[in-house]
Amino acid sequence: CGIVGYVGKGDCVPYLVEGLQRLEYRGYDSAGVAVVKNGALRVHKAQGRVREMAAGLPKRMSGPVGIAHTRWATHGPPNDLNAHPQVDAEGRLAVVHNGILENADELRAELVADGVSLISDTDTEVLAHLIARSPEETLEERVRAALRRVVGAYGIAVCDAAAPDRLIVARNGSPVVIGIGDREMFVASDVAALVKHTQQVAYLDDGELATVTIEGFRTSTLDRRPTIKEPHAIAVAE
Ligand code: GLU
Repeated sequence: CGIVGYVGKGDCVPYLVEGLQRLEYRGYDSAGVAVVKNGALRVHKAQGRVREMAAGLPKRMSGPVGIAHTRWATHGPPNDLNAHPQVDAEGRLAVVHNGILENADELRAELVADGVSLISDTDTEVLAHLIARSPEETLEERVRAALRRVVGAYGIAVCDAAAPDRLIVARNGSPVVIGIGDREMFVASDVAALVKHTQQVAYLDDGELATVTIEGFRTSTLDRRPTIKEPHAIAVAE
């Protein structure tokens, strides 16, 4: 339902929590945060309010790269395990997802036949495993390969302890906006989450994917064609 992400010079956690709070008006049943720091991924998530999830965040959970989500369940009931971020089998890669993957059952069956044990009921966890298991070399290529296998609507953000300086975001039918700051980049499903931090934004188009680092972002299509995005200023009502 709601996505926020951060890559930059500061600590992502305060922005992620505040961003989720700004998206609460859209409704949700659970919330969670994933942070990459010093080559490790940490995840905290729970059914219920953002405030309660945030109150339970481990004190030491901080870092320069992170993603967060408010979930509106479509695949599996609202509970702690089904809350996002969803992670791969090694707990190294995390995905937040808005939307519905229509071929999740087939892909899940394929993963199970390959010996993967899934721990949630979500379509999103299927995507996390597909990305992690892709033979491609870079995170961007692994996400691209996984997305080429899914049918359905998505806005996603992905972080990976093995690529600790970046987020990958992608859109097909569910909005993703990138906010450009001064050596900090913001990601959200709705500008409401990031306007306090920057008014320079770029919206992804359907079928587009972006790699976001502290230096900026670059976009391309699922078939690897680079795309040009001109960031523009959004008007903020005082
Ligand atoms: N389909 C996903 C799920 O049920 C994401 C739902 C959403 O929050 O948009 O977990």
